[in-house]
Amino acid sequence: MTKLILPKSIIPLKLPMQGFWGSVTVYLLRSEKENVLIDCGMGDESSIESLKNQLALYNLKLADITKVIATHYHVDHMGLCSYFQNLGAKIAVSDKTAVDLKSYFKYSDRDDMRAVLYGRHDVPEDFKESVGSIFRFFRNYHTDLIPDEIFTEGDIIEAGDFKLYALSAPGHTEDHHIFYLKDENLIFTGDHILDFSTPHVCFSYESSVDDVLSQYIDSLKRLSVFAKGATALPAHGGYIENIVERVDEMILFYDKKIQSVLEVLDSTPSSCFEISQKALGKKRSPMAQWLAASLTLSCLEHLTSTDKIKCDTTGDVIKYSK
Ligand SMILES: [Zn+2]
Repeated sequence: MTKLILPKSIIPLKLPMQGFWGSVTVYLLRSEKENVLIDCGMGDESSIESLKNQLALYNLKLADITKVIATHYHVDHMGLCSYFQNLGAKIAVSDKTAVDLKSYFKYSDRDDMRAVLYGRHDVPEDFKESVGSIFRFFRNYHTDLIPDEIFTEGDIIEAGDFKLYALSAPGHTEDHHIFYLKDENLIFTGDHILDFSTPHVCFSYESSVDDVLSQYIDSLKRLSVFAKGATALPAHGGYIENIVERVDEMILFYDKKIQSVLEVLDSTPSSCFEISQKALGKKRSPMAQWLAASLTLSCLEHLTSTDKIKCDTTGDVIKYSK
């Protein structure tokens, strides 16, 4: 992390995360009467233990948390919500997160669908199995719940002495929200922007739009305009003091990937998986392979939506060509 000094009442708590990212940072907002968490970590014993120990440094117990505000429905952000709700905390989520959380638990077969990139994209069997098992594994650390408070884009969320302005930031997930703390000029950005990587972008399958990558790039640009001079506090990695510069880097990254995908396409129809291997190379681990293939699919959906390529959905395998 960079050496940004946060106000004493805003405390980052780094929690272990089983799986790909290594750790997730949740933020404690301390006031005299309320202790609010932005996101809360995965629902496992090591996260509870870590939170307990870190809160003890501030003379707080787990039961002293009065509210959890979630950026989006993913397990590393909401896995412990029902645990805190049972201890008496209120859980605040966006209207969209309430819907996405419900469907996550309703359609558990989505883990396998995710493994095949939500459709007919010609991924090998072993790839399907190993990626499917990663998503099934994450599901073990998440719990369904009925939220206590629902907010929506533009709402001011009360968090003790703090007031958070909620902004919709779709892309990584459609329900993703970020929270602006005007007095401190800080933005809690969840997985919307990261300093060390580019977040995974969801697909049209789980979104209301066909071209999620364009929607994500638009929402990055919106953040860039909104956040001039503010510092981003993400859920993974370090703080981002120059949001405008980071957003520009990320947009350039996606532009290059779109170009790489376009360059390997010709008049011969190919599957997403074939295109991914040509454009972004073969990856070693199943998760890296899935991330590369899913990035390729985001680019292909973008190129199809903007009429730069053709997409043939008539066969068992979806094929793309120029
Ligand atoms: Zn996430």
